Amino acid sequence: MDMSYTPEQIAFRDEVRRFIAGAMPPEIRHKAENGGHYEHAETMQWHRILHQKGWSAPHWPKEVGGAGWDSAQRHIFSEEMVRANAPSLSPFGLTMVGPLIIQFGTDEQKQRFLPKILSGEEVWCQGYSEPNSGSDLASLQLRAEKEGDDYILNGQKTWTSHAQYADWIFVLARTSAAGKQQEGISFLLADLKNTPGVEVKPFMTIGGTLAFSETWFDNARVPQANRVGPENQGWTMAKALLGHERTSIGGVAESSRLLNMVRRIARDTRVGGKTLMEDATFRRRLARLEIRLRTVGMANLRTLASAQLGHAPGPESSILKIAGTEVQQEITELAMDAMGHNAMGWYDSPTDAMPEYQLWMASNFNYLRASTIYGGSNEIQKNIISKMILGLPPS
Ligand SMILES: Cc1cc2nc3c(=O)[nH]c(=O)nc-3n(C[C@H](O)[C@H](O)[C@H](O)COP(=O)(O)OP(=O)(O)OC[C@H]3O[C@@H](n4cnc5c(N)ncnc54)[C@H](O)[C@@H]3O)c2cc1C
Repeated sequence: MDMSYTPEQIAFRDEVRRFIAGAMPPEIRHKAENGGHYEHAETMQWHRILHQKGWSAPHWPKEVGGAGWDSAQRHIFSEEMVRANAPSLSPFGLTMVGPLIIQFGTDEQKQRFLPKILSGEEVWCQGYSEPNSGSDLASLQLRAEKEGDDYILNGQKTWTSHAQYADWIFVLARTSAAGKQQEGISFLLADLKNTPGVEVKPFMTIGGTLAFSETWFDNARVPQANRVGPENQGWTMAKALLGHERTSIGGVAESSRLLNMVRRIARDTRVGGKTLMEDATFRRRLARLEIRLRTVGMANLRTLASAQLGHAPGPESSILKIAGTEVQQEITELAMDAMGHNAMGWYDSPTDAMPEYQLWMASNFNYLRASTIYGGSNEIQKNIISKMILGLPPS
């Protein structure tokens, strides 16, 4: 494979680089340069800036408002976003439910939902997991019963990331108890803000942020017109969406960003008269992670290239999820080791001596312990690989 860029690709890279440099508002630029933490409002501000340029959905086809880029252009764009340390956009609309609506939605659904996902006008969250249905997702119990043109929803979702910011939620709901569990599930789109009977209760995480919510449905009415795909066949949609989710959780961009932080910490930290960057043991650990991340990046590129040929993400997204999240966790471990006692820093107690990136590293480290769990735990991904790729019998 020839990995060098063509003159056209270099020109494209320069155009992206110039745009990002010119379009970043001062507050975001400050955080980008100092490794600060982006609040939801800043992420959405960046989303709108990219949308105005037509770049909020590099991976969507042009006909539905995407940038229509090939896999190399998408890779270059993502590299430039990391290089500039720009905010990563929320994945729930752009990466998860958007592609699903493009693939399975009706024309009305496409017209109603896609433009507002693209523009960032409507923020989405994911209602898959329930208190007793995480890995065993097909056992989910949120009931959706037909009444007139609507479904009446009753039950609970949990671990709903960012629900407190969201306008809409996509949920898996049980529309039939007959047959196998997987056969009675439907994929529904629910208005979180304007549906009586829906309650979102945020809770605090070990990272110190209100990242999640429990989402309750008490006789909440959702139009049948908001069902994506046929009734009782939501499992097909659920799996397709998880393929997109796991590919994005591979987190190459996020890991590259973190690794840049580690390099910065190593340059700023002096141990025994030299910088940490000059320490052979540290450099060996850093080099090992750089190589592993490069490998995950190549696997990611392969998935992008395959998607461009029209293939939906298959079981290879499970490989990407495992490798990507393990690398991500190891990078934050290296960052914590490199920071030494500065790793005790916490964002709500800044000191003059502490650069912004140090204030967020411990929170980030804590939060990312979950990356091997969310999007389907890595143990389950190994089961998928053993069955779908290696052809082994179920464990
Ligand atoms: C940070 C975070 C964000 C999340 N965001 C969302 C969200 O936005 N929306 C949403 O719907 N959900 C979300 N989730 C839920 C997430 O998808 C589930 O936590 C995940 O699927 C695991 O389910 P569980 O927590 O019920 O664990 P369990 O299924 O109870 O599993 C517990 C442990 O047992 C292992 N295990 C279970 N069954 C098997 C098996 N057959 N073979 C081998 N090992 C097994 C698991 O791998 C795991 O290690 C989030 C979770 C976290 C932690």
